[in-house]
Amino acid sequence: MKAAVVNQFKEQLEVKDVPKPKAGPNQVLVHIHACGVCHTDLHAAHGDWPVKPKLPLIPGHEGVGVIEEVGEGVTHLKVGDRVGIPWLYSACGHCEYCLTGRETLCLDQHNAGYSVDGGYAEYCVAAADYVMQVPENLSFIDAAPLFCAGVTTYKALKVSEAKPGQWVAIFGIGGLGHLAVQYAKAMGLHVVAVDTFDEKLELAKELGADLVVNPLKEDAALWIHEQVNGVHASICTAVSKPAFDQAYRAVRRGGSCVAVGLPPEMMEVPIFDTVLNAVKIVGSIVGTRKDLQEALQFAAEGKVKVIIETRHLHEINDIFSEMEEGKINGRVVLDMTK
Ligand code: NAD
Ligand code: ZN
Ligand code: ZN
Repeated sequence: MKAAVVNQFKEQLEVKDVPKPKAGPNQVLVHIHACGVCHTDLHAAHGDWPVKPKLPLIPGHEGVGVIEEVGEGVTHLKVGDRVGIPWLYSACGHCEYCLTGRETLCLDQHNAGYSVDGGYAEYCVAAADYVMQVPENLSFIDAAPLFCAGVTTYKALKVSEAKPGQWVAIFGIGGLGHLAVQYAKAMGLHVVAVDTFDEKLELAKELGADLVVNPLKEDAALWIHEQVNGVHASICTAVSKPAFDQAYRAVRRGGSCVAVGLPPEMMEVPIFDTVLNAVKIVGSIVGTRKDLQEALQFAAEGKVKVIIETRHLHEINDIFSEMEEGKINGRVVLDMTK
């Protein structure tokens, strides 16, 4: 089968033929029809983070397709089912976190396209208990980005505890951020969109953002305080340390700053202001299977729609360069059927 492979960090991916995997016990083999390209895949290929992925690696954690083979012991899925393989490839199922609805914190988890091979391939094996069905009325191309960008931003908004009628600021209007804007509007929130590219701010407006600000032209945090007295919550998806600093400063007293983007730098936080203003700083990592089901349902009901550019697997190195330069509007989805 064809796959894009990371052989060494910071080197070009190699698109080549690799052996087609087989479904083991409690696994399914998915014929991948589409896979979204997440900025996390770029971090993986660069070896950016303290915990490194396996090498060689087939990236991809937004792979969706049709089950072709069902392994021994799988009873709730059948050949022909339409499913996706999220970042949370598997978890132990019996630790404190798994038992308390926080499976994304499991210490014994695997991650698609990181600790195990993912969806930049014609076929991918997956843990049967952790794949999620794709709603019937969603195409594979439209559904793929919801398996990471969608569920992650939906969950981050839940974690922010912002209530209908309140203000949220979305920092970074990329693959994740353009969905965050839509989930926030669908949840009845007022939205300020923040990005360094005016085209992305235009997109945010089209998707329903109430206000937009470019931090290259204004001090975004100060501007947000002037306009709306600060936001009840910031969601920072930007791969940029300055964006995190601004997301923190944009929050009003008692609000929360939700860290989602994963630049490798440190975030500096003033202790005095955090204490006096009772600001919450909280990390949010993807979402549980239940969060994913809900995030997909919003799209199935037409409340959220991914802005997509469809590309071919062999263009992956160009796509990564464009992503690094901030040139992608919405999400790139690899059409694996072509
Ligand atoms: P992306 O490249 O599509 O989007 C990033 C956006 O940030 C771009 O629109 C870019 O213009 C914007 N940006 C850059 N600098 C900025 C600044 N100073 N201020 C405002 N905006 C700025 O990336 P993506 O796929 O949306 O992923 C974003 C980040 O989220 C990555 O670090 C990725 O690894 C991480 N991520 C985290 C989770 C999680 O569960 N926490 C899940 C998926 C992705
Ligand atoms: Zn992702
Ligand atoms: Zn566990």
